[in-house]
Amino acid sequence: MAGAVIDGKAAAARVRERVAEGVAAFTARHGRPPGLVGVQVGDDPASEIYQRNKQQQAEGVGMAARRLKLPESTTQAELDAVIDELNADDAVDGMLVQLPVPPQLSEPLIAARIHPDKDVDGFSPVNVGRLVRGEPGLVPCTPSGVMWLIHDAGVDLRGARAVVVGRSLIVGKPMALLLLAEHATVTIAHSRTRDLPAVCREADVLVVAVGRPEMVRGDWVKPGACVIDVGMNRLDDGRLAGDVAYAEAAEVAGCITPVPGGVGPMTIAFLLANTLRAAERRMGDEPSEGVV
Ligand code: NAP
Repeated sequence: MAGAVIDGKAAAARVRERVAEGVAAFTARHGRPPGLVGVQVGDDPASEIYQRNKQQQAEGVGMAARRLKLPESTTQAELDAVIDELNADDAVDGMLVQLPVPPQLSEPLIAARIHPDKDVDGFSPVNVGRLVRGEPGLVPCTPSGVMWLIHDAGVDLRGARAVVVGRSLIVGKPMALLLLAEHATVTIAHSRTRDLPAVCREADVLVVAVGRPEMVRGDWVKPGACVIDVGMNRLDDGRLAGDVAYAEAAEVAGCITPVPGGVGPMTIAFLLANTLRAAERRMGDEPSEGVV
């Protein structure tokens, strides 16, 4: 019997609704909406689309959203100056620099330069440290979205075996920490893991963030497991494929995210949630209920 399909599009719409309510209350309290600025360096077409979507969705929930486009040749010093200006701007609650950046720029330097309280991507060393320490902070958007989907699917994480395939700073590592914080027994697998199929077969919750189309096959999935596919791979024919062979895995899983329409829509929804949370924290407000 096929497992339940986790509808990320509908879940993201619910998150945005809650964020919009929080934004309206924030705006009424402070006489200005939360402000989000996306910085883009260069003309990468995918970045252009991401940035446009982020701005549109932020405006859709009532935020003041702005895009700053800098030339491909921007130096680290020039970008630092822009980040410093946004750090000092009281109307800016959240900012992000769209990745990837051109090779003359350093992602670690960028992450460290953004003020941790405005770091809505959650990539700064301070926010990574807060996550490791279990202190409140801004958490990367994609793993936050995954946690929401897992909760929404009614999965009990206490004592469950969770396997995260992928150990990136953006997805795999924070994902593992969030699962651990909810008392799952977590394994992080990666390209050097021995017998990956056997490791995956142990998982009650299997989160895959690798970037290899349909790598995880149906017989890697434990019957009844919750399978979360973070992968977004553009195939030669233009189709989008996940990291999990969906049709096979869905036959075995208890619940599973499709691609597209699973994790993807949650990422921007949680960028908005982080921006609201950042704005509330900066203004000393109580956090909105049930958003992050
Ligand atoms: P990444 O930085 O390239 O990391 C990929 C990870 O997968 C690495 O840890 C790598 O291991 C591991 N890996 C690669 N090949 C493997 C293999 N054959 N077996 C086991 N592990 C393997 O990628 P990422 O940024 O985390 O993104 C992963 C995927 O998620 C991509 O498809 C990306 O497009 C997608 N993504 C989606 C969203 C969303 O909003 N839905 C957001 C972010 C990313 P090593 O560390 O050993 O190299």
